[in-house]
Amino acid sequence: MKTALFQASKLSTLDYQKIGQRLFNGATCVVPTETVYGLAANGLDPTAIAKIYAAKGRPSDNPLILHIADSTMLKQIVTDISEDAKTLMDAFWPGPLTLIFKKATRVPYAVTGGLDSVAVRMPSHPVMHALIHAANTPLAAPSANLSGRPSSTTFAHVKNDLFGRVDMIIDGGESMIGLESTVVDVSRENVEILRPGQIDQAMLEATLKKPVPYTQSTVDIPRSPGLKYGHYQPQGSVELILGDTPEIFEYLMRQTAPENTRVICPIEWAEHFSFLKVSPLGSIDDSASIMRDLYARLREMDDDDVEMIYLLARPDLNAALLDRMKKAANHHVTHLVESEDH
Ligand code: AMP
Ligand code: MG
Repeated sequence: MKTALFQASKLSTLDYQKIGQRLFNGATCVVPTETVYGLAANGLDPTAIAKIYAAKGRPSDNPLILHIADSTMLKQIVTDISEDAKTLMDAFWPGPLTLIFKKATRVPYAVTGGLDSVAVRMPSHPVMHALIHAANTPLAAPSANLSGRPSSTTFAHVKNDLFGRVDMIIDGGESMIGLESTVVDVSRENVEILRPGQIDQAMLEATLKKPVPYTQSTVDIPRSPGLKYGHYQPQGSVELILGDTPEIFEYLMRQTAPENTRVICPIEWAEHFSFLKVSPLGSIDDSASIMRDLYARLREMDDDDVEMIYLLARPDLNAALLDRMKKAANHHVTHLVESEDH
């Protein structure tokens, strides 16, 4: 497939109209958003949606998020908007929050993986916002990566995974947040977090003025089907080690590491582990910097054919990052310090 490349900063109003028209008519386009890059297509057209699943190699029961530009679009695709949903939308839209609603009939089951609910987000990224407007339809847009790989946070990641597999790619530089949206179910009596993200539990609880628990649904009975699939795993083995530097140092000294081993840790910790090769990941007290770089670091491990990856973090790291790191480690986690949260 021929893939047309565009530079976001150079797009004219006419370009937006043309790309929007192609999207409306069933083409696929990778678009920058504030979270990670999205692989967008007309969210109300089952044929266009099938192209997303094919390009990613994604299992078709893993549902997609519909991205909207205004509240008129929301009313077209959902049936019931609770007071809690309104409060959350007022506080966090446009932004990195996805809400699960009961779906309207016009939303095809192809988008919801057969569910009667639909995931909706109003992105704040100006390019994504303009394209939804130009396409004049909600855009389904999962992360723009091959299924099972880390989400793409740079144009290079997108090109590596999807060049030749999609109709268009828009280069918007590095993703601002670098982690996928928080997913919150507002379709039932009790509001629940299905996936942690930059908008965290404390922010949601402060806004709704009540507890907002994480879902208790498990891998066996997933409320959010995406939860049952492996995610973000580099080809090498990953061990997530939670603790502080002295214990981690002692622990790593006792391991027999294979030839091609890498430590991924905050820049401030790098000197402690210089007996191994270190890839710095963000700054210890700045979780936003860790979010921005996590997927790029994980992808570099595959580029360098790293066999063993020690991913080091403090146990009080925020929930969204711990969630993605645990998935990258396929739940191989070593706790070296008892933490209040665990
Ligand atoms: P992605 O767009 O690849 O970041 O993944 C979208 C996430 O939203 C996945 O974890 C899905 O399981 C979840 N999701 C999408 N639609 C629904 C839905 N109707 N109900 C519950 N979870 C959903
Ligand atoms: Mg994804």
